[in-house]
Amino acid sequence: MVAVAGWAASVRDHGGLIFVDVRDHTGVTQCVFDPSSHAEPASRAKKLSSEDVVLVSGKVRRRPAGTENSAIASGAVEVEASGLEVINECAPLPFSLDEKLETSEETRLKYRYLDLRRPGGAKGLRLRHEMNRAIRNLLETRGFLEVETPILWKSTPEGARDYVVPSRVHPGKFFALPQSPQLLKQTLMVSGVNRYYQIARCFRDEDLRADRQPEFTQIDIEMSFVSEEEVLALAEEMVAEVFRAAGQEMPRPVQRLTYAEAMSKYGSDKPDLRCDMAIGDATSVLAQCGADLIKKAVEGGARVKVIALPASVADLSRSQLDELDVWARTAEAAGLSWMKAGGTQASPLVKRLSDAEKAGVATAAGASPGQWVFMGFDPSPKVEEFMGELRMKLAKQFDLLKSPWSVVWVREFPALHYNGEEKRWEAAHNPFSAIYEEDVPFLDTDPGRVRAHQYDLAINGTEVLGGSLRIHNAARQHKMLKLMGMSDEIIEDQFGFLLRALGHGAPPHGGFAGGIDRLVMLLGGFQSIRDTIAFPKTQRAICPLSNAPGSVTAGQLRELRLRVIEEKQGPQ
Ligand code: ASP
Repeated sequence: MVAVAGWAASVRDHGGLIFVDVRDHTGVTQCVFDPSSHAEPASRAKKLSSEDVVLVSGKVRRRPAGTENSAIASGAVEVEASGLEVINECAPLPFSLDEKLETSEETRLKYRYLDLRRPGGAKGLRLRHEMNRAIRNLLETRGFLEVETPILWKSTPEGARDYVVPSRVHPGKFFALPQSPQLLKQTLMVSGVNRYYQIARCFRDEDLRADRQPEFTQIDIEMSFVSEEEVLALAEEMVAEVFRAAGQEMPRPVQRLTYAEAMSKYGSDKPDLRCDMAIGDATSVLAQCGADLIKKAVEGGARVKVIALPASVADLSRSQLDELDVWARTAEAAGLSWMKAGGTQASPLVKRLSDAEKAGVATAAGASPGQWVFMGFDPSPKVEEFMGELRMKLAKQFDLLKSPWSVVWVREFPALHYNGEEKRWEAAHNPFSAIYEEDVPFLDTDPGRVRAHQYDLAINGTEVLGGSLRIHNAARQHKMLKLMGMSDEIIEDQFGFLLRALGHGAPPHGGFAGGIDRLVMLLGGFQSIRDTIAFPKTQRAICPLSNAPGSVTAGQLRELRLRVIEEKQGPQ
């Protein structure tokens, strides 16, 4: 005798015999009720509703020859049912739990427990568990200490808006939820923890894009007395384990590019190298060219960037070229020109180039006769990003992303970039990254040239991990913050504790954080980051399951000494 407990996934009356598929987290088992031998349970089985919770007892038997179902693991057998207990009834379902369901995401998230109960519905959670376990196992063998850091924390400038929590004990004061445990893990290094990790929740109050959530999870790591190479080696090992947990293999060696190379060759600081189309530079070829528009642009500082389609894409139709042109205009580029190398087909602007210039453009793009070449020019760094977007557009349109995985480090990021509006330097990543020693003199003369020991790992064009060696000298850290235009009061208020800690014997240290949600999404082939999270928020930053965020009572507001300003009064 066996007992099978689970949900009545389907009930079928087949000419007398009642078939009930009972589902649990491992799959389904077919249970057969025969009214001629077990009339009473069979008559109740007939009346079961979808997703009632049942306990079926009976005997396991082989299915009659020819009726096996190879699509399910238990498809060779079935339960000849002799008993049925309805443990709990299920209300009418808002949607069918069939795998091919077409229900709005809002409804799926409102009934997330049903969504997860669907066959395969919890795949993202299981993969996430496997990846977290692989990470923990690896770090355990490398001497890391798992430390939890506070969630009620203070505002730190990591670039995004904070979620704030009012303090009841200190009316008018607020905690902020951490955007990341960055300063806390650095402080732990000063305290001698040596190797720290945390699967840490981070909170950023940003407008949500497709793969963002207001709260997300990072594997957060910091190490003392390490070189950049040691940090990169650990990160690679960890990501390789994560690949393995997903049944994939990470390509090795992991490629490396400097930021400058990544931008000039691929037009992105997270390049996707699943296809090797690289962007070339034809500025010098066209510096003296006959087409005024280009000549003037180059004289004004524009760079001419070119890219070739592989020879396998032989023909482009007029409508494909027109469509690219329309796209280029919406991408705010200076305009897109094109030609077929060694041929006569060319856009009006390219037609005005001499044969030698056209040949030079083809060479700069690495194109042989017959290959299509695209050209963009602009004085701003935007031309690189535009060509990078064009590169990916072409790669997707012509199905050129052949290899399954592109894993690449981008290093030597600029430490600072200039905010023209606010007329001050800003940290390109975060203000705590150590800078290359040989670039230190540029801090006073040419801050834009200063490179940080910052490294990001991109998988298939998505940044999944990033980190840096940190500044461990209090005076250097203070100087960087001053360079970013911060007053001594702000520095003391926001970073006083960090500067004091650095001044009390901070070891050299560095680390990284990797986005767990994104890794699960990418390696599991999920469409949305929400598939990797138990109870995700929608793109409008609400939780349809609980309707959070919600109101609080007048009493709660009084306790916090807060007043809600009604929208109609407008902001004050
Ligand atoms: N704190 C950084 C982040 O959240 C990662 C790091 O540099 O360790 O992106």
